[in-house]
Amino acid sequence: MHILSNTPLQPFNTFGLAANSSGFCLLEDINTLREALPLAASANVLALGGGSNVLFCEDYEGLILKNALQGRTVRESDDAYHLHVMGGESWPELVDWTVAQGLGGLENLALIPGTAGAAPIQNIGAYGVELAERCEYVEFIDFDGGGLHRLSREECRFGYRDSIFKGELQGKVFITALGLRLEKQWQPVLDYAPLSELAYDGAEPHQISELVKSVRRAKLPDPSLLGNAGSFYKNPTITRTAFDALKEGYPDLPGFIQADEQVKVPAAWLIDKAGWKGKRLGGAGVHQHQALVLVNYGQATANDVLTLARQIRDDVEAKFGIRLVPEIRLIGASGEFSL
Ligand SMILES: Cc1cc2nc3c(=O)[nH]c(=O)nc-3n(C[C@H](O)[C@H](O)[C@H](O)COP(=O)(O)OP(=O)(O)OC[C@H]3O[C@@H](n4cnc5c(N)ncnc54)[C@H](O)[C@@H]3O)c2cc1C
Repeated sequence: MHILSNTPLQPFNTFGLAANSSGFCLLEDINTLREALPLAASANVLALGGGSNVLFCEDYEGLILKNALQGRTVRESDDAYHLHVMGGESWPELVDWTVAQGLGGLENLALIPGTAGAAPIQNIGAYGVELAERCEYVEFIDFDGGGLHRLSREECRFGYRDSIFKGELQGKVFITALGLRLEKQWQPVLDYAPLSELAYDGAEPHQISELVKSVRRAKLPDPSLLGNAGSFYKNPTITRTAFDALKEGYPDLPGFIQADEQVKVPAAWLIDKAGWKGKRLGGAGVHQHQALVLVNYGQATANDVLTLARQIRDDVEAKFGIRLVPEIRLIGASGEFSL
């Protein structure tokens, strides 16, 4: 096991923020992970994938384990293809590969950055599909005992941008592999507006993934050109009563009815309506086409991003009575950092 000290994290987070980690180890095999486990008790250990859903708010005082576990296998049963994917595999490359093999099921999740191992953590989702619908199991090693465990989809307790890995297992496990089930009786999911133009008999997974990619490229900044971590905030859910009351003042407020008389409101609409789209603070800014995405214009500091994020949150709360909660994980010197 080779542990690097005082490692710059800028190349390892898509926001491109400058921070250092006191310890850093690239995990290319499970044995290296097992060797690192004794350190987990004394060092703050942080599992890291592609760094596309994190904000390093301070230098990290601990050991970062960067997932580089590679490999994928496919098993066939009567009605499905079962993929076993190692956690360090690139998610967007995995989706492209399945589509190229003619396997349907992941096409709506094309071009979401990051690793397969991180996909279950916030139950990635886009264009009407969530990982939970394709996940068969998640495998991980726990930092305490070092055992290899497998949780079924039900045991992962998936929710909207949520799972057991963001809750009671956060910071306690390292996800090594992901099991996916892709049905042979593939059904396209085309409810989301830009995809409905493909709602005719015979649409293929590759057509859907190409359309998803072109819509995403048009709407979202490419992190290799403009640092960002995707949606900064979750879409909030409010009661039906609160939604109806807000709608009186803002008749154009969009809302999506959920179970239990709750309504999900697009955070992008709230931020845009509050006048933040395109605004800048220091080296950070709100993307000019997508108000939910904060960006790094090149020299942003964590303080720039956090100050901007706080101002947006407070202003949205003052105007609409809704408090936004970050979707991305804010990481401080020894772990959690609150906004
Ligand atoms: C341009 C852009 C667009 C995006 N679009 C979407 C979208 O449409 N839908 C969506 O859901 N998300 C989206 N995201 C967010 C992001 O792509 C996903 O959350 C992705 O799954 C993060 O993967 P990662 O490997 O980069 O995770 P990281 O950012 O490295 O880590 C995220 C969290 O998971 C933990 N973690 C990572 N790997 C492991 C592991 N092996 N074991 C245990 N814990 C681990 C980390 O500690 C951290 O808490 C977008 C991001 C960007 C930059």
